[in-house]
Amino acid sequence: MPDVIPIQYINSSPVSSGESVQRSLMHGVVLNDALHRPMQDLRISVTDRCNLRCTYCMPREIFDQNHVFLPRSELLTLEEIVRVAGSFVRLGVRKIRLTGGEPLMRRGIEQLVEKLSALRTNTGDRVDIAMTSNGVLLEARAQTLKNAGLSRITVSLDALDDAIFQRMTDSHSSVGSVLAGIVAAQHAGLLVKINMVVKRGVNDGEIMRMAEYFRNTGIVLRFVEYMDVGSTNGWAIDEVVPAREIVETISARYPLVLLDASCTGEVASRWAYTDGAGEIGQIASVTHVFCHDCTRIRLSTDGKLYTCLFAEQSKADLRALLRSGHSDEDIAHAIENCWQNRTDRYSEIRNEVAGLPLNKIEMSYIGG
Ligand code: SAM
Ligand code: SF4
Ligand code: SF4
Repeated sequence: MPDVIPIQYINSSPVSSGESVQRSLMHGVVLNDALHRPMQDLRISVTDRCNLRCTYCMPREIFDQNHVFLPRSELLTLEEIVRVAGSFVRLGVRKIRLTGGEPLMRRGIEQLVEKLSALRTNTGDRVDIAMTSNGVLLEARAQTLKNAGLSRITVSLDALDDAIFQRMTDSHSSVGSVLAGIVAAQHAGLLVKINMVVKRGVNDGEIMRMAEYFRNTGIVLRFVEYMDVGSTNGWAIDEVVPAREIVETISARYPLVLLDASCTGEVASRWAYTDGAGEIGQIASVTHVFCHDCTRIRLSTDGKLYTCLFAEQSKADLRALLRSGHSDEDIAHAIENCWQNRTDRYSEIRNEVAGLPLNKIEMSYIGG
C-alpha cells in the first residue's frame, strides 16, 4: 500500500473566507461557482499525444507529422501534478480522472496513479482515481494500474467492426487489442465503462451490435453524442445521432427503463434493461444539456486551468505559479478564484453562439 500523503493546510483555515466556500461536517469543503455548482471533479490531461487519430478529436490533416506537440519541458511533471491535485482535493474535489491525449502514452502514469491515490480528503476519505483510455495499450498495463490504486477505467470504443473502427480512429489498430484491454481491466478488478461516440453515417450501424456485445457483461456501455468540441473536427449537427434515438432503437428490441441519477454531476442518463441484462448510459451533451449540474474543472497538459470543455481561454496558469516559487496557498487561491467566478454553460447557449468565430481549445490538450 502506498503511504498516505498528508494534506497540510498552510493556515489554520483550509480555504479562504469567500462566500461560496462552505464547510460541512459530513462532506468537507464545498467550493461553489457563480451558478452555485460545486467543484467536485478534476480532469487532468497528462499528455497531448495519442496513438490514434480519431477523426472527431485529432483529425490527421491537422495532427500530422508537422503538428508540434508540447515539448517535455512544458508538461507538468508528475510531482507538479500531484502537488496541484492536493490543492484541488483540499478545495473539495473528490474524483480525479486522468485523460489526454492517450494517458497510457505518458511515461510514469502508474507512479502518478499511485501518488494520487494516496491523497486523502480533509474528512479522511480516499479520492476516486479514474482514467479514460482508448484501450489499445491497456492489456499489459491493467493489473499494474489497479495495483497502483486506479479504481475505474472508461475505455473508448466506437465499433466492433475493424474496418469501421479503423476508419473512425484513422489507424491500423485493431478492435481485438481494445477488447483484450477491456478483458484485462475486468480481470484486474477495475470497474469498466465503455464510451461509444456515435457519428451518423459512420458507426450508427454498430449501435445494436455494441449493445448486444456488452449486455450481461457487467460493463456499462455509454453512447456519447458527437460534440463540437475544439475547432478542427468539422462538426455538423446532422452528424449527431440524438441519444434519445439510440435509446429508442435499443429499447425496441430490449426494453429499457430510465434509472435515477447516481450522484450530482453525473453526466450520463442511465437506462436499465428490463430483463436484468445490465444498463446503458447516454451522454447527450448536444440534445439534453447538463451545464446546470456541471461540477468539472480541467487541468491541461501544461498546467493551465479550464472551467469548460468548450473554453477558448484558460482561467489560470498553475505551472507558472508552481515554477516561480508560489506556495500551495497561492495555488489554492488561484483555483478558488477561477471556480468562484465561473459562469460557463456553453452547451446551453450553443445555438446562440453558432456561427461566431470561436477558437475552442482542442480536446486532446484540455482533456476529454
Ligand atoms: N484517448 C483517450 C480516449 O480516447 O479514451 C482519452 C482522451 S479522449 C479525448 C476522451 C473521450 O472524449 C473519449 O471517450 C472520446 O471518445 C471522447 N471524444 C473525443 N472527441 C469527441 C467529440 N468530438 N465528441 C464526443 N466525444 C469525443
Ligand atoms: Fe486519441 Fe482519445 Fe482523441 Fe481518439 S479520442 S484521438 S484516442 S485522444
Ligand atoms: Fe460543463 Fe461546459 Fe460542458 Fe456545460 S458545456 S456541461 S459547463 S463542460
